[in-house]
Amino acid sequence: MKKLHELGQNFLTDSSVAAKIAAAAGIQAGEEVWEIGPGMGILTREILAYQPKLTAFELDRRLIPVLGNMFRDQLRLMHADILRVDWDELTQNAPIKLLSNLPYQITSPLLALLEKHHQSFSIIVLMLQKEVGRRLAAEAGNKAYGALTLRMRMIFDIETLLEVPAELFDPVPKVDSVVLRFTHRASPPALKNTEMFYRLIQLGFASRRKTLRNNLKSHFSAEQLQALEEQSGISLSRRAESLNEAEFITLADLL
Ligand code: SAM
Repeated sequence: MKKLHELGQNFLTDSSVAAKIAAAAGIQAGEEVWEIGPGMGILTREILAYQPKLTAFELDRRLIPVLGNMFRDQLRLMHADILRVDWDELTQNAPIKLLSNLPYQITSPLLALLEKHHQSFSIIVLMLQKEVGRRLAAEAGNKAYGALTLRMRMIFDIETLLEVPAELFDPVPKVDSVVLRFTHRASPPALKNTEMFYRLIQLGFASRRKTLRNNLKSHFSAEQLQALEEQSGISLSRRAESLNEAEFITLADLL
């Protein structure tokens, strides 16, 4: 079967890696579990060893009979694009554990969906491109640190579990991968002005090389920005990438 690059079909070839991904979700028998993109079933098999109620979403029509023959009635197989299914409807069986060796081209929209529906998921274990993993794990001051880091980490604790070299996939992709586990942050910080926090992140990183003042000046008056600087004690001559979460919260709460 020809592997389709446009569907991110780089199949994992090492079942010990698949076993580690499945183990990382701590699945108990009977729990609701989703898998995105089961492909040829290498991870599916490991997940099923824990006897969950598994729903698997696979977009490639050719794989549906293959998976159906392999796993029969051990799972609910949906021939669907995970980006187009009705998440409100399907997440009614929450809490759900989500696992995937992600097709990399859907990473950004999928992370946005997980941010929106995070309350429905108790644990998420994803294999993604190493570069995205770096962005999610980055600390302030690091080049990889940005709006995505802050948005996802406002909700989740994100652990890097293992690095997976490109050679363990067929076909071999150009980049290495990393397995991350997302769990809810035990005590997320209280935001007085949630909307402003997210707006500030978006505006602050709009042009990474500009100072905060330059990124903000067409959205706030000079007086507002001066007052913000004085009250917060945070220089707006800094770049967004140097500010940690607490500093963004301070600014958002004052605006
Ligand atoms: N789980 C398998 C493994 O580990 O070898 C396959 C992983 S492969 C990286 C990604 C899988 O996701 C492929 O089977 C592909 O057909 C499927 N896929 C791609 N886009 C999808 C989408 N939007 N919704 C559901 N499945 C998708």
